[in-house]
Amino acid sequence: MDELRHVLSELVIERVGFGIFVLDRDLNVLMWNRFMADHSGKSAEQVTGKSIFASFPELPRVWFTRKVESVFQLGSFTFSSWEQRPYLFKFDHDRPITGGVDFMQQDCTFMPLTHEREVRAVCVTISDATHASMMQRARDEAVAKLQEFADRDGLTGIANRRYFELRLRDEFSRWQRYGGELSMLLFDLDHFKRINDDLGHLVGDTVLRVMAERVAKSVRVQDVFGRFGGEEFALLLPCTNFEDAMIVAEKVRRAVGETPIDVQGARVPVTTSVGAARARTGVTSSYEALINEADAALYTAKREGRNRAVGFA
Ligand code: GH3
Ligand code: MG
Ligand code: MG
Repeated sequence: MDELRHVLSELVIERVGFGIFVLDRDLNVLMWNRFMADHSGKSAEQVTGKSIFASFPELPRVWFTRKVESVFQLGSFTFSSWEQRPYLFKFDHDRPITGGVDFMQQDCTFMPLTHEREVRAVCVTISDATHASMMQRARDEAVAKLQEFADRDGLTGIANRRYFELRLRDEFSRWQRYGGELSMLLFDLDHFKRINDDLGHLVGDTVLRVMAERVAKSVRVQDVFGRFGGEEFALLLPCTNFEDAMIVAEKVRRAVGETPIDVQGARVPVTTSVGAARARTGVTSSYEALINEADAALYTAKREGRNRAVGFA
């Protein structure tokens, strides 16, 4: 029996790939396995018989004490994952430093060691969750990137129509509930078909890119700038009244048309027509209605000769 116990202690507890230590009611260390010794650099002889805080003053004292105390009082198992608290002990990990993780990420369990219905000690296990946490972080980053791609237009890098409409819908319901001001612009390049026909589709693409860049530079961060269709763009203007929306419309018109765009040695003059609309209390019933009004204003701008900004009347 003693032999078996020895084997158990030597082979299982000592050589197991995670940390095991035992604490008494006063948080003195009763047992400290090899994993803990190897990673902390402190041997069982050095830490046993003393308060854990004497050997590791950097431990989160209040949190740790509360955790252990709860096991003594309730007699039940408790757990802390790296997602809640990345690590308890500052152990090095064996991963490349490029992973963005400073110390070994740890999952911890706190188990009551009960004798005659009384919790005599608490056994803490520490397992290395670095790999899992890095995988998780990589996955989160990939998802965020995909999300970013899903919201962007491939040619210009600005918001795509799906994302634009999502934001418009949000801003519109905010406006419906809290009031204030909300405007939007729709603009469409003038005679763009000619540019494609005369200079080729690739030049047309470059013109679209440069033009989107110019407009993006001249709008505020709160505004949402999106590609609505082929050479049609939309600008959502939260907290912006009609008068200011018309000022922005004029600014957009000038940003696009003031200087010709240089593409492959050619100077391509481009102009745009802009339609503006604002949400009106008791009149504008949906965000689609707001789009339709901006579209109607844009149509008027085209009809009246292009290269102009028109507000929905
Ligand atoms: P208008 O002043 O009335 O707007 O004239 P327009 O020629 O710009 O109008 P129309 O909507 O009839 O034509 C749009 C053209 O835009 C058709 C298509 O050749 C071009 N276009 C749409 N999407 C793209 C694109 O992604 N790249 C390029 N190069 N051209 C595009
Ligand atoms: Mg056009
Ligand atoms: Mg068009």
